[in-house]
Amino acid sequence: PNDKKVALVTGGNRGIGYELVKQLALNGFKVILASRDPEMGQEVTQKLNEVDLDVTFVRMDVDDQESIRQAATVVNEKYGKLDVLINNAGVYLDENERLLTMNPSLLEHTMDINFFGVYYVIRAFLPLMKKRGYGRIINVSSEMGAMRDMSSQGAGAYRLSKLALNGLTQLIAAEVKGDIKINAVCPGWVSSDMGGPSAPRTPKRAAESILWLATIGPEGPSGGFFRDGNELEW
Ligand code: NDP
Repeated sequence: PNDKKVALVTGGNRGIGYELVKQLALNGFKVILASRDPEMGQEVTQKLNEVDLDVTFVRMDVDDQESIRQAATVVNEKYGKLDVLINNAGVYLDENERLLTMNPSLLEHTMDINFFGVYYVIRAFLPLMKKRGYGRIINVSSEMGAMRDMSSQGAGAYRLSKLALNGLTQLIAAEVKGDIKINAVCPGWVSSDMGGPSAPRTPKRAAESILWLATIGPEGPSGGFFRDGNELEW
């Protein structure tokens, strides 16, 4: 039916993003799988279509504002709205680096994708929510970006990017009007390419712990930071 809710997931081609796409489709959403790599994105979309899941592909590199704008135009022309936006795409480039000794481009690149990428994606897609006065935005963040943890060493670029993302979430929550909610979420430590094989949580389980935020009602939270449904201090 035409009244199906439309959801978009950035970095939907693998890891947690792929599971989010799959579970949203299983739960009755029309899902747009956004991926910067068209071949991989289309291949994964096709596989999901073969098992009858309502998924379409859109190319979007969150590090490229023109590509973000084009994706928003495509979604607007095709669906005329967006109900759920999940900013999942992210990079973790500085596991063994220190802020003062790393190549500064590592910090810039991390902020470009994990922070500015989300900022520009929200700016491009919010009009598709605003015109109907409804929207649910989920920013996939990390507890590594909690302020209270900033005295330990390592992964400074990643952690700063997620700290800034949490702040962005709260500030945008205060700016949007109507039934538009935006929250940040920590998926836990997850066995993806990023999390590595020894992580205790599967991408499937991580997606399950996130998706309640996609269907919260008008009384639900906004500007919060959650893991497994519990608000986190940061
Ligand atoms: P993966 O490394 O498995 O997947 C990352 C995804 O982001 C890929 O789809 C990748 O696309 C995409 N991506 C990276 N850069 C861009 C870009 N410029 N434009 C569009 N897409 C991009 O990571 P996870 O699935 O583990 O992580 C998903 C999110 O969860 C991230 O935001 C991460 O920070 C967060 N997170 C993960 C944790 C974990 O333990 N795994 C813990 C806490 C948070 P491509 O295939 O083209 O590279």
